[in-house]
Amino acid sequence: AKDAGRNAARFFNPAMQKTIESRLALETALRQALFKGELELFYQPQIDQNGRCFGAEALLRWRRPGHGLVAPLEFIPLAEETGLILPIGQWVMDTACAQIKAWEASERTRFLRMAVNVSARQFHQPDFVAQVQASLERYGANPQRLKLELTESVVLENAEQVVSRMNQLKALGVGFSMDDFGTGYSSLSYLKRLPLDQLKIDKSFIRDIATDPSDAAIVRAILAMSQSLGLEVVAEGIESEAQRRFLCENGCHRFQGYLLGRPKPIEEWETQPDL
Ligand code: C2E
Ligand code: CA
Ligand code: CA
Ligand code: CA
Repeated sequence: AKDAGRNAARFFNPAMQKTIESRLALETALRQALFKGELELFYQPQIDQNGRCFGAEALLRWRRPGHGLVAPLEFIPLAEETGLILPIGQWVMDTACAQIKAWEASERTRFLRMAVNVSARQFHQPDFVAQVQASLERYGANPQRLKLELTESVVLENAEQVVSRMNQLKALGVGFSMDDFGTGYSSLSYLKRLPLDQLKIDKSFIRDIATDPSDAAIVRAILAMSQSLGLEVVAEGIESEAQRRFLCENGCHRFQGYLLGRPKPIEEWETQPDL
């Protein structure tokens, strides 16, 4: 199971999938995946400068019979087009809230935060706030442990409504992170409008950070700006010690990436000795 995420990418490229079966067949299978219990959350550790795990990002996987473990980029675009992302997103929220509650039972894990990805279509549902609140209450999960990751596609439209929804959730204690920061077009303008707690520097800026002076400059600028705005920063996609060291030396103290831990099923978290 350990290498399943990596292998999934090798066995499932979009071209292959299109030739093997029609889009409709994929849609039908995905629709059934939900009630057949084929969806799973993997959790990728988030690590601080002392090497301690402070949280996890929940990442969706589809354990599709006869196809192995399918990565989200193979089915989330279709789920968004067809609206299936709504029941799927609801399932993700419920599962993440149940896990927050489960972590609360142990001294070792009770402080962990759970980051959950929210798609634009999901966020713009009229009852999104009520849905999140209902998930938290259904499982008795502490809202302070929940962090919602939004991308620019979520916040691009209807800024007033976005801010109002974010504020309603913040009033419950839920936090917000801007995912893939730096890859969009209006990154800077929404920063001052939105009640964010955290930015995640996109992995495309991290890849060559130790060797490419312009990537290094961009990341330094994001860190300086975040500091003055009082935003926490998580760098994602860290694969090498050189990248981690660069970030540390430039004031970034929260890390996520294969160097620090791959996304893994919850059973592997429970047996992990160094948590
Ligand atoms: P994301 O939110 O940017 O998530 C980070 C992605 O980077 C994950 O891919 C993760 O496995 C991968 N990653 C982590 N560390 C490294 C690293 O060191 N190097 C490299 N190259 N990659 C790394 P994954 O799990 O395939 O997810 C892809 C995308 O699918 C996510 O990107 C997110 O946009 C979306 N997604 C995943 N789960 C959900 C979900 O529950 N709901 C929604 N709406 N979207 C989801
Ligand atoms: Ca994310
Ligand atoms: Ca990201
Ligand atoms: Ca992404």
